Amino acid sequence: MNALAATNRNFRQAARILGLDSKIERSLLIPFREIKVECTIPKDDGTLVSYVGFRVQHDNARGPMKGGIRYHPEVDPDEVNALAQLMTWKTAVADIPYGGAKGGIGCTPKELSTSELERLTRVFTQKIHDLIGVNTDVPAPDMGTNAQTMAWILDEYSKFHGHSPAVVTGKPIDLGGSLGREAATGRGVVYATEALLAEHGKSIKGLTFAIQGFGNVGSWASRLIHEKGGKVIAVSDITGAVKNLNGIDIPALIQHKESTGKLTDFDGADSMDSNDVLTHECDVLIPCALGGVLNRENAGDVKAKFIIEAANHPTDPDADEILSKKGVIILPDIYANAGGVTVSYFEWVQNIQGFMWEEEKVNQELKRYMTKAFHNIKGMCQSHDCNLRMGAFTLGVNRVARATLLRGWEA
Ligand code: GLU
Repeated sequence: MNALAATNRNFRQAARILGLDSKIERSLLIPFREIKVECTIPKDDGTLVSYVGFRVQHDNARGPMKGGIRYHPEVDPDEVNALAQLMTWKTAVADIPYGGAKGGIGCTPKELSTSELERLTRVFTQKIHDLIGVNTDVPAPDMGTNAQTMAWILDEYSKFHGHSPAVVTGKPIDLGGSLGREAATGRGVVYATEALLAEHGKSIKGLTFAIQGFGNVGSWASRLIHEKGGKVIAVSDITGAVKNLNGIDIPALIQHKESTGKLTDFDGADSMDSNDVLTHECDVLIPCALGGVLNRENAGDVKAKFIIEAANHPTDPDADEILSKKGVIILPDIYANAGGVTVSYFEWVQNIQGFMWEEEKVNQELKRYMTKAFHNIKGMCQSHDCNLRMGAFTLGVNRVARATLLRGWEA
């Protein structure tokens, strides 16, 4: 099942649980606006190359639409639509005053030079600058993009609209970025994990973790788990995978990856098959990469007791069913990875206030938001007798539906 079908299915199930009126259900499902643009740039050798860029603005009932821009070969309209919708529920679950959006360009960023990436980002911004804005739609980094990408968007946007730091988040600190934003998604994953484990009388210390994906989110989550005394025993990324049952020295592995560009050939761990990380013996499995990695083929072999969805939609509906029958507890993406967008919100607030917060304040507030959202989700699970995924979906959908109704329908 593709990402959009899976997301729509979860939404419809939540709408049924909430007893939503079918007209509101339909209106919440259809995106506010879908943008598709051609982006042609000259490569460094002078040849022209064309890419397709997307921005799907899903809903703005609760505030400006918010979400990342992804540069990845698998970016397609369905995927971006699903991710935009997930952002609407995610910002509502986190209780930050935003709607949801997502964008992307179907490209392989590793095959582009820095100047080609800059040209591509500027052309994309030229095509969408009228449709984004501080109070309409605020992009941020996602897979394949980073603070530098946001700096180019800010610069290009400002040529049309004047200097507007709050038009993007996840910016470099020198351009109004927030302290703690880079680590925020991984840190939020760890706060979410702590909230879930505490419910079960457990803590990170002494538990074993398998981490699939070692980019920004996976490496920050691993580092913080390691600092808190958790044993990260298996790690994978696109270059390969490593394991050490006594616990991997994560700061050393990060350094190894920085200097060699890969995880394998690391002195402190043995190489393993990347696919086996998802089914490795561990207490907690954290998928931190692409969607759909847990599916009908491998879900039956998962040994973890807890899955924390640091990636967006890593578990497809077949896997959801298989894992729930096995008693595996899944902390859903629209909550587990909300730390990034939550600190994006703090960044936007700081830009509007024109006042920079200390990193300690950012992390404290992030913990407060993540913990509160967990208890709100548990409240929905109790009142609707449902699992954590439906607890999060009903929480998010209900907040958006309420805002939609309060705004009214008169044309
Ligand atoms: N790309 C991140 C996400 O999927 C962050 C979005 C944002 O900060 O707006 O949640």
